[in-house]
Amino acid sequence: VQALLQDLRAAVGDAHVLVDDDQRTGYEVDWTGRYRGAAVAVVRPGSTAEVQAVVRSCSTHGVALVPQGGNTGLVGGSVPRHPTGAPTIVTSLRRLARIGDIDEAALQVTVGAGATLAAVAARARASSLDLPVDFAARDSATIGGAIATNAGGSRVVRFGTMRHQVLGVEAVLASGDVVGSLAGLPKESAGLHWPSILSGSEGTLAIVTAARLRLVPHYAHTITALVTVPTVSDAGRVLAHLRAHVSSLDAVEVVLPEALDLVAEHLGSAPPIRPSTDGLALLIDCAAPVDPTAELTTALEASPKVVDCVVTADASQRRALLEFRDRITEAVAAESTRIGTPTFKLDVAVPVERLADLVVEASLAADADGCRLIAFGHLAEGNLHLNHLGARDTSQLARRVLGAAAEMGGTISAEHGIGVAKTEYLPMIRNEAELASSRAIKSALDPGDLLNPGVLGLGG
Ligand SMILES: Cc1cc2nc3c(=O)[nH]c(=O)nc-3n(C[C@H](O)[C@H](O)[C@H](O)COP(=O)(O)OP(=O)(O)OC[C@H]3O[C@@H](n4cnc5c(N)ncnc54)[C@H](O)[C@@H]3O)c2cc1C
Repeated sequence: VQALLQDLRAAVGDAHVLVDDDQRTGYEVDWTGRYRGAAVAVVRPGSTAEVQAVVRSCSTHGVALVPQGGNTGLVGGSVPRHPTGAPTIVTSLRRLARIGDIDEAALQVTVGAGATLAAVAARARASSLDLPVDFAARDSATIGGAIATNAGGSRVVRFGTMRHQVLGVEAVLASGDVVGSLAGLPKESAGLHWPSILSGSEGTLAIVTAARLRLVPHYAHTITALVTVPTVSDAGRVLAHLRAHVSSLDAVEVVLPEALDLVAEHLGSAPPIRPSTDGLALLIDCAAPVDPTAELTTALEASPKVVDCVVTADASQRRALLEFRDRITEAVAAESTRIGTPTFKLDVAVPVERLADLVVEASLAADADGCRLIAFGHLAEGNLHLNHLGARDTSQLARRVLGAAAEMGGTISAEHGIGVAKTEYLPMIRNEAELASSRAIKSALDPGDLLNPGVLGLGG
């Protein structure tokens, strides 16, 4: 290990090889506090060449490495947890935070993997453009992490997930070689496509060092509505109506009553309207070059199943409404600290018409366990975040809920990834040929099992 540390110091400089306990701690535990491990060191390369040197040193000494961005991942993939307990290095990409010039003709930008979503969005907005992907961890989550997890968030209904925004990547393989291109060609049909291969690969195939991203217009007018509907099935009917009649739809978030109550308590302020116990709240964003208020209110008035709604274009009122969605994860974390048990999180998606069945099954599973279920998510993708507070038998909960989602034609992970948290459940949604092909790709690209061993059930 001493020889490795010496090589790493030579590669990135003494100041960027962190070995002291107090310097490493923040990199060794994940955002939820559920997943933690110990790293031999945290290395902070400042360029692609330095990432190459770090990877080559680790390869020479046979020591595994965990790529880490903002460490906001929720499935334990960003912290050192080698399946065999072998020594591991955390490679933090946060210093690769350079944001290039905005290309207003191509609607693109080249950014370092360590740039945060918020920083890229702020730079784009200065040119009246925007990053199409947005979610609550925006101030810490990095572009590299978002690509590695194929992150989603609230605007997938309009723009798709992170993989749809990546026009090019630059990445370092376990061999230390660099692959990919940052040319940002909207059209290229020339065999395997590195952005597609690496989106969702969770740091197991290569370390992303930079990306060429698609930008979209930053609309001058954004409005927000809080809407209540009587049942989960009714929410699907409202969604269908809005999709048919509202061209400016930017986000359709769903919040179940328990989640709304918890976040309201956390914020110390009540929402202006509240759904019934069996109903739910929708938080809807519309964005357009001209004020979309008339378009949305007309559609809501004509929509079946809307019980109540408030619509606002005022920036501070919008922010206040959006807190009831954006700060649920934070409210859940605070409650989990208060009760002294880490939250057990599931992130599932089913076809929208099965969402009501999923809610019933998840509620029954939580009741059977005796835990408290806090559910919210992204309606158009049938994606629910199920937070279990005070869960007793997490394995039983996971088997039941993930099994039900898979059975309904859904998935065990909509946007958080598999990490180490969901690996044993992958066979619920992938057949043996698919699992074997993934293992074959991993061993072809990383024969020494250097990159994030154990994550995605690969290597380790
Ligand atoms: C409050 C909160 C809200 C959230 N909301 C959402 C949401 O709405 N939608 C959503 O999709 N996610 C959400 N997340 C989860 C998380 O923010 C995303 O998964 C995010 O993409 C992780 O980015 P990161 O930079 O923090 O990555 P990390 O947590 O550091 O890493 C995540 C994974 O990516 C790998 N990785 C990181 N950087 C690289 C790189 N440069 N090259 C290769 N591999 C890399 C890691 O090894 C790990 O496996 C939320 C998290 C929090 C805390």
